[in-house]
Amino acid sequence: MTLASAAELCTFVDRSPTPFHVCQTVAAELESAGYVRVQEQDAWPTAAGRHYVIRGGSLVAWSSDAAQSPTDGFRVVGGHTDSPNLRLKQHHDLAPAGLGVVALEPYGGAWLNSWLDRDLGIAGRIALRDGTERLVHIDEPLLRVPQLAIHLSAERKGDELDPQRHLNAIWSAGSGTFLDLVADRTGVAGREIAGFELMTHDTAASALTGADGDLVSAPRLDNQVTCFAGLRALLDAPAVSGVRPVLALFDHEEVGSTSERGAQSDLLATVLERIVLAAGGSRDDYHRAIAASVCASGDMAHATHPNYTERHEPLHHIAIGGGPVLKVNVNLRYATDAPGAAVFASACEQAGVPMQRYEHRADLPCGSTIGPLSAARTGMLTVDVGAPQLAMHSARELMGGADVDTYGRALSAFLSPA
Ligand code: ZN
Repeated sequence: MTLASAAELCTFVDRSPTPFHVCQTVAAELESAGYVRVQEQDAWPTAAGRHYVIRGGSLVAWSSDAAQSPTDGFRVVGGHTDSPNLRLKQHHDLAPAGLGVVALEPYGGAWLNSWLDRDLGIAGRIALRDGTERLVHIDEPLLRVPQLAIHLSAERKGDELDPQRHLNAIWSAGSGTFLDLVADRTGVAGREIAGFELMTHDTAASALTGADGDLVSAPRLDNQVTCFAGLRALLDAPAVSGVRPVLALFDHEEVGSTSERGAQSDLLATVLERIVLAAGGSRDDYHRAIAASVCASGDMAHATHPNYTERHEPLHHIAIGGGPVLKVNVNLRYATDAPGAAVFASACEQAGVPMQRYEHRADLPCGSTIGPLSAARTGMLTVDVGAPQLAMHSARELMGGADVDTYGRALSAFLSPA
């Protein structure tokens, strides 16, 4: 049976337009596998079992059994739930040229050109005056950022996009209050909305493309592929004595991870410490467990672009369909070191999947990910890994369908070392 199929990935992504929805989608699958949600303000469960916590757009899930010792190491699959997009400003109703327009702002390193001429929906969460929260997912073509006509472009090459002026979206041929529309569609009164985090998403469904349907065209592959494959790996991984499997998915990676729920927060360390303490361990046992732990920080990797092969390090070309990727950077944009590389190479071998080794060109700035940040926060041996994709940070990205499954298998083997 396929552990993590490309078709199921498409369903996962389409259900998850925002970090909050990623958590909701993951939680629904965890619940149906018997995982129970723990509230951070409650006493920690002392019995072994399958549990998860959600903090905003971040989620940590773990499984333990009664035979385990408080000093047993954790095997953590890490990932991030957020993706670059265009987000709604607090005061956003504009009316230039007699149109209903909302003011948007780029979140993270969005490839701005890719957001033009797409039918966009709106999603996120709203906080109400009564203290409750609602998720919003209006999956309809409500908004559009139209491109400038080529005849109005100075040199017919496309003018550079100004994030302040050129990314506002038309949502009505008339006028009105955009938040009232959101309230109406969400079934609340507009005056009840006291806070919101709302963002746009491409409403075109994710699809298997190419002559044999072996490519995946979808938004947010970076990094919902890891959220999905990591989830399936956790659910699939057979219990191994002396190893406690964990899935840790963080919000805010695309903007630096510094928040109450990002990879630089205390979220993962706190959850792991509480697991050890609730199992009867001491603070020293927690540090012993961390010293015996490994984190596979999963994030997407750059497949070699067929139109720009010269932008890639010559001996480190990454193939679509070539299997999971080990990411190495001597300047620590990735956390991978020799022991970490060996752990992931063994996991790929155990899973029977090939592994590719990625390094960035020395003359181009390498991106980073949660690995180095989470490693610094927890003190855990960390290896940065991923699956190959093209068009990273575009509103629409592309990957190979086979890589979804091989990535899931490698992560599952990592969580259940032989
Ligand atoms: Zn990423």
